[in-house]
Amino acid sequence: MSHLNELYQEVILDHSKNPRNFGDLKGASHHAEGFNPLCGDRITLYLQIENNQIIDARFEGSGCAISTASASLMTDSLKGKTVSQAQKLFQQFHHLVTEDGATEQPELDKLNILAGVHAFPMRVKCATLAWHTLLSALDQKSDLVSTE
Ligand code: ZN
Repeated sequence: MSHLNELYQEVILDHSKNPRNFGDLKGASHHAEGFNPLCGDRITLYLQIENNQIIDARFEGSGCAISTASASLMTDSLKGKTVSQAQKLFQQFHHLVTEDGATEQPELDKLNILAGVHAFPMRVKCATLAWHTLLSALDQKSDLVSTE
């Protein structure tokens, strides 16, 4: 990840070492599990949704720095969002890390720091794992999500 600028690296390292919203969520209304076999990242995502609004979001699991930082940043950004806003955020984030020439979006706020993973196809799966798990949780699917 040598060409990511230092500030971005610092934020990613901070979130991977001290993930926000880490742990289970008692009384979660939605949850899903995700697995990225390419890297071995695992995540369980918990959401508390009331009246179509995400009141709380937490996650558990173990994975590489990118997957953990992405889940940490994602759960931070989900709180207070409506379900449709969260789905839109998924699309914006997915576009940012998978499309050539995608530019940073103001709505993504701190999530823009993960744009650099676009240059590392293996790492894109790490960065998007939490997000695919989010969609699954919102859909109330109980199956394990795999990025493969
Ligand atoms: Zn990973």
